Amino acid sequence: MMENGKEPIVAVDGYSSTGKSTVAKMLAARLGYVYIDTGAMYRAFTLAAIRAGAIRDGKADEEGIRKLLQTVRIDFRRREQSGKFETYLNGVCVEEQIRGMEVSGQVSLIAALPAVRRLLTGQQREMGKAGGVVMDGRDIGSVVFPEAEVKFFMTASPRVRAMRRYKELTAKGEPVCLEEVEENIRKRDYLDEHRDESPLVRAADAILIDNSEMTVAEELELMSGIIRERCGGREG
Ligand code: C5P
Repeated sequence: MMENGKEPIVAVDGYSSTGKSTVAKMLAARLGYVYIDTGAMYRAFTLAAIRAGAIRDGKADEEGIRKLLQTVRIDFRRREQSGKFETYLNGVCVEEQIRGMEVSGQVSLIAALPAVRRLLTGQQREMGKAGGVVMDGRDIGSVVFPEAEVKFFMTASPRVRAMRRYKELTAKGEPVCLEEVEENIRKRDYLDEHRDESPLVRAADAILIDNSEMTVAEELELMSGIIRERCGGREG
């Protein structure tokens, strides 16, 4: 709780597969805040576009996307047994499907579309405006909540990131090779940094965290210490 009686907004931005969501989830649990995974929203929209045949020859079909903008509903629901939040597309759980390589390969294309960003960033502002949230993404501290009380920008070397993602995918039984995963990460970084609409940039007041050589526990200590220092956040 801050001096003004409000709970802060914590923005966690940065490159793909830097463990943003892992640490953001743990921070939210520790602070008693809500965790919002904005990447999952772009992934769910992308899944809807793939299913609707709205991506052709590596290009988004304008008409198809326009229709989806009016019909797609994305929300997060908590699973009773595990307490984990899962992503729902039009009322159906798509948590598994949105994490696969098919969606990963197309998501930066869809996330570059201004109309898609307008829709999803509007929903994100609505979800976070009351404070007491940890929101992870690419443009939270720069575009969605430039007034966020604490902003982190996460990075790690591409090899370290590829290795982490590779382990995650092979553990789920997805047949991938390390080079393919590293290539996907580099490509997504490039597209995310070079798109015209809300490119991935480090906000001037964001704190840079390079976790290449950090354990998750060390990272969590560092980040929650910073939040405490700035906002007097409570500990769970
Ligand atoms: O965080 P995650 O890797 O799941 O995000 C998937 C993709 O969604 C990113 O590579 C990026 O293209 C896009 N994204 C975005 N803005 C956000 C969150 C994700 O453009 N706030």
